[in-house]
Amino acid sequence: MSVNGRIRGFDFHCHIDLHPKPATVFDRCASEGIVSLTMTTTPKAWPQNSAWVKQNDFIHVATGLHPELVGERYADMELLETQINESHFVGEVGLDGSSKYQKSYGEQQDVFHRVLVAAQEVGARVLSIHSRRAERDVINIIEKHVDPQRVLCILHWFSGSPSEAQRALEAGCYFSINHTMLASDGRQKLIRDLPANRLLTETDSPFTLIDNRKSMPWDVITTTTKLAEIRLISQTHMNSALLANARHVFSFAQSKLPSIDLADAHS
Ligand code: MN
Repeated sequence: MSVNGRIRGFDFHCHIDLHPKPATVFDRCASEGIVSLTMTTTPKAWPQNSAWVKQNDFIHVATGLHPELVGERYADMELLETQINESHFVGEVGLDGSSKYQKSYGEQQDVFHRVLVAAQEVGARVLSIHSRRAERDVINIIEKHVDPQRVLCILHWFSGSPSEAQRALEAGCYFSINHTMLASDGRQKLIRDLPANRLLTETDSPFTLIDNRKSMPWDVITTTTKLAEIRLISQTHMNSALLANARHVFSFAQSKLPSIDLADAHS
């Protein structure tokens, strides 16, 4: 995969600021040619992350409020709403229906609803959405509040049913796929059936493991190879589909992919 021969892959959902040395991971994304969309779990982390990557065109930072943290950080919602006016990328947001977070589910729904309304109002926003054990509610809220011309929703690590995936597609959603999803036979079938023009890759680094180590954004390269195998297409074909999709997502967010000049500066 390449733009100007330099882009080698896309990580549409990772948490670089949760690595022990974020700066080295940001730098290596640039030197490896991995365009990464790094999440924040609280909007309070967004300014620092943005400052870190100011000189690095390979990294885009999303402002978010992780559904697992809504119970303790509900008050951060106001800051998030303000930042959505500035940040074209929003994540990690969504709903978590696991029993552990059941107590905050009402607040989570309120936050997710407000995020969608804020993004919809300003437009040209790309969201990376968590939907564990809450796929149906997430899709219901998207159907009700999102005009896909104004907000592009990426379902991160989707584990819902084929019929839910179908509804999400009809609502305009994209799917970011990680290597852990590809390890399951059931997921493989669902992923094989998704249209090529809605597929993206991700790692959820550092929360996923590869060979007993924490995954890194450049692991999307092996995910892309596996994705091509599962879909019975060539690696070249898979790469060009993923590149076209990434171009669409970035232009939707009025953001640029790295230029050749920047790539040269890192070589
Ligand atoms: Mn995540």
